[in-house]
Amino acid sequence: MRLLLVEDERKLCELVARALRAESYAVDVAEDGLRGWELAQSYEYDLIVLDLMLPQLPGEELLRRIRRSNQRVPILVLTARATTEDKVHNFEAGADDYLTKPFAFAELIMRVKALLRRGPISRSSVLRVADLEVDRFTKQVRRGGRRIELTAKEYALLEYLAANPGRVFSRTMIIEHVWDQSFEGLTNIVDVYVRHLRSKVDDPFPVKLIRTVRGVGYGLAEAVEQ
Ligand code: CA
Repeated sequence: MRLLLVEDERKLCELVARALRAESYAVDVAEDGLRGWELAQSYEYDLIVLDLMLPQLPGEELLRRIRRSNQRVPILVLTARATTEDKVHNFEAGADDYLTKPFAFAELIMRVKALLRRGPISRSSVLRVADLEVDRFTKQVRRGGRRIELTAKEYALLEYLAANPGRVFSRTMIIEHVWDQSFEGLTNIVDVYVRHLRSKVDDPFPVKLIRTVRGVGYGLAEAVEQ
């Protein structure tokens, strides 16, 4: 396993690198964000340990660049910043775990091992149906590479259908999965949302993916004949 450690505090960097090497990991070290970016582009790491407050290129920007370049490497963020807002922000930017300084090395090692056990597969959050892509992590939807903007409910409905292509869901099943217990409206709300979804996901494209099965419900096409 080859790890990248991006940390500018030299002493801490040495200690963390030593602790990781003691677990028999190969560890490359970058002491600023730009160097971290160069290394992240050059090698396929199994995991990246990333400090946020970095010279040259801030850790957050590095995190975003790595995710934008579609690298599925697990990323553990180290930082002195610890507000919930910061944490949420970084998870959204693509961090897989978070450790607040000061931390115990034993905890760092434990988290590194847990992330490595999960491996890169956990990152493949993208559901694909034909040319439609639904990213369950970023909540972004693309079709034919084009970004489609959806409301939260439209997204939830599409994600539910995309997770089970080929299956047809009744309005009641859809309500139960996409709305919560506080929902007291009528099941025809589903028809309304499917209509919205169609106008964004299907109407601009020649091939239609959303299926209506009369008297049964809705589904997404399993395979589309080209
Ligand atoms: Ca730092």
